[in-house]
Amino acid sequence: MTETRINQRDKILAVAYTLLAIMSLLHAADIPTKPVRLAEAAARLEASLFWDPLTGAVTLSKNGHLVNFRAGEELVLFDYRELALLDAPIADAGGILVTTAFEARLEAFFNTLPPPVSYRVGAILIDPGHGGKDPGAIGKTTINGKMVTVAEKDVVLKVAKDVYERLSLVYPDKQILLTRTNDTYPSLEDRVEMANSVKLDAHEAILYISIHANSAFNKSSTGFEVWYLSPDYRRTVIDKGDSQSSDILPILNSMMEEEFTTESILIAKSIMEELDKKIGKQSPNRGIKEESWFVVRNAKMPSVLVELGFVSNPGEAGLLADDGYLQKCAAGIYNGLTVFISHFEGSRGFTTIQ
Ligand SMILES: [Zn+2]
Repeated sequence: MTETRINQRDKILAVAYTLLAIMSLLHAADIPTKPVRLAEAAARLEASLFWDPLTGAVTLSKNGHLVNFRAGEELVLFDYRELALLDAPIADAGGILVTTAFEARLEAFFNTLPPPVSYRVGAILIDPGHGGKDPGAIGKTTINGKMVTVAEKDVVLKVAKDVYERLSLVYPDKQILLTRTNDTYPSLEDRVEMANSVKLDAHEAILYISIHANSAFNKSSTGFEVWYLSPDYRRTVIDKGDSQSSDILPILNSMMEEEFTTESILIAKSIMEELDKKIGKQSPNRGIKEESWFVVRNAKMPSVLVELGFVSNPGEAGLLADDGYLQKCAAGIYNGLTVFISHFEGSRGFTTIQ
């Protein structure tokens, strides 16, 4: 995210407020329509649906378009640039209910051309966790009758370098970067600083992928998981001193902030799915999680953290000590990133992220 992009948003929001005022008048004349399940509407529209039941935030995507709204709120944000007031979606035990008019509005929007200015991924920073004096999680396993120590810092460096090689080959026009290439220890602040100091063009974004391995007191814990930036961590995007419509500002604000979250969720989803294809038969898929990790929280960009598996489990430590298995992990992360990038860069393919 660049300053220019935020400034552009301010201008867009000024226009949006005017539109909002007009739409409030039109809205009064709306006739309530039949309720429909959002999940069914999304299926009919062949749009990808993501709903966070904790925050009530909903993202729908199709044809390079994104629609954001929240259960219980009338404001709907289209492609982060256009606002509308529609009947507030309702959350219940069965999911989210919208109206037929809401569905029709979504359909009309998805059928429009995607926004002309498309952002591209200019850089990907791959962050192998720990290193040097900090080994991260330590486990033991037996290979060919010999007891072997498995250190997180070594496992994640191998995978990170492999992901780096794969991305560098296929994206010579992007900056592919590593926070460390050896057994050294950049501090967490160093890593965040590295991420935030990468030079980007106006319409470029940077992705931050931190790679770790897990440890648990319970030695039977196994599996891989992907974490994304928690929506609890909010930036102030819109100036609060500004408007008469102060009651909607917090809602708008959080919707704009959620762009990073949305992108992070989409990256997390695609990495999770592609990792599952590669290692899902050998290690349980623990799903996508939401957290405000230090590394992820302070990087002002879409960020995810991948936990490859548990070195504290002797069986999984055995897998993580195997180069063939680590290549599969790298392939999964790489594939997930390419899936996300092709969507992010405006190809009409969002629908394949289900
Ligand atoms: Zn770690």
